[in-house]
Amino acid sequence: MPIEFEAPKPIVQTQFVLKTVAEEMMRSRSRYFDEHEHEIPWDYIEFMHTAMKAIGVGSLAPKEKASGGEGGNGKRPPIAYQVLASQIEMLSWGDVGMYLVTPGGGLGAAAVQAAGTPEQKAKFLARFVGEKPTIAAMCMTEAGAGSDTASIRTRAVLDENTREWILNGEKIFVTSGDKSITEYEKLGKGFVVVWASIDPSAGRAGMRAFVVEAGTPGVKVAKLEHKLGIRVSDTASISLVDARVPYDHILGSPTVEKTTTGFKGAMATFDATRPLVAASGLGVARAALEFLKEKLAENGVQIRYGLPRQKLTSIERDVIEMDIMLKSAWLMVVKAVWMADNKKPNALESSMSKVKAGDGGTKITQKVVEILGPLGYSREFLAEKWFRDSKITDIYEGTGQINRLVVARQILGYSGKELR
Ligand SMILES: Cc1cc2nc3c(=O)[nH]c(=O)nc-3n(C[C@H](O)[C@H](O)[C@H](O)COP(=O)(O)OP(=O)(O)OC[C@H]3O[C@@H](n4cnc5c(N)ncnc54)[C@H](O)[C@@H]3O)c2cc1C
Repeated sequence: MPIEFEAPKPIVQTQFVLKTVAEEMMRSRSRYFDEHEHEIPWDYIEFMHTAMKAIGVGSLAPKEKASGGEGGNGKRPPIAYQVLASQIEMLSWGDVGMYLVTPGGGLGAAAVQAAGTPEQKAKFLARFVGEKPTIAAMCMTEAGAGSDTASIRTRAVLDENTREWILNGEKIFVTSGDKSITEYEKLGKGFVVVWASIDPSAGRAGMRAFVVEAGTPGVKVAKLEHKLGIRVSDTASISLVDARVPYDHILGSPTVEKTTTGFKGAMATFDATRPLVAASGLGVARAALEFLKEKLAENGVQIRYGLPRQKLTSIERDVIEMDIMLKSAWLMVVKAVWMADNKKPNALESSMSKVKAGDGGTKITQKVVEILGPLGYSREFLAEKWFRDSKITDIYEGTGQINRLVVARQILGYSGKELR
């Protein structure tokens, strides 16, 4: 199946609308929420919920079935991930922190999507099209278990009498953890997907994900992080003390075979979401680069794209380098989401896109601040904020180093044990 480089109609149609949202609802408030960390942008959340419901999109989560069908001939494969990547890029161009607050299933729904049964998908995903905006999150990271996800110490034990799982542990750095688990009046019942071990002696094979709903006794937000960037997005520590979860809230098999199936559930989630994180980082980088070009143009500097390298000024060369980084990373994202849409294994491309976007985004936003000089450093403009916001692309959903390891293993044919 060839890759088509022309954006399909559903993408083109939503880009125009989302750009308006990005400009009117996001950019205009970027600075306010950056400076008022932990304030919740309720009007944005409610607006997005109403708007997404109106157009029949309950959540920024890929659909099981095609939303495409472009051209009416029914031949185009489903393009749900491709549409999603473009939407995320545009919203992140508006404000990446606020995009992370967009109501919907986020990483929590992605985990249900990747590892849940059809019944679980029906049960847990339906709430995102309900009356109130609803948010979900995923809790994998723990102190001492970030990159090395297999070292998690959160335990899930089955109570044979009540047939409930009892979870104990402490999760940290959970994006939207607070809005997912705290029962805010304005939000529907959210959930967090908690990764825990049902058999520590089995290592990765014993890892399972559990859907833990808002309001579950024993589950609470222990801390909200103060951060460098994406400050409007809450990042929570969540403690679980004898938290009881219904038996059928386990995603995947409740029995431990000596395989790494449980762990593969986590990895399948990342294969699906890493290109989306990459898309979001590239939205920030594009915002910064466009802003730089605008400022250069205001000062009479036009980039002379057709000239040989030796005739270009140093700034022109820098801008062209940034264009290349941005576009090549975007092409990696397109390939990775196209593969996801076509149900092709995309672990390699997914990690590659994340590496390119994390690297490129950081370099571009830093260079933009550098070229703008005091204007880049001043809080009067958003360039310095984009610089701070962009770094997260290279940290969450696997750091740049970890994704490089995944790429190397895939290319060289090594297992996680052989190359770490
Ligand atoms: C704002 C924010 C939001 C987050 N959201 C979530 C979330 O929603 N859910 C969730 O579960 N987690 C989340 N995280 C956690 C994030 O995924 C982890 O921070 C990340 O995976 C790194 O893990 P760590 O913090 O333990 O760092 P470490 O694993 O200790 O890594 C520290 C450094 O060592 C490097 N390193 C580690 N191992 C290797 C190796 N084998 N080879 C080479 N270098 C290595 C890393 O690349 C990094 O540079 C979030 C983090 C942040 C900052």
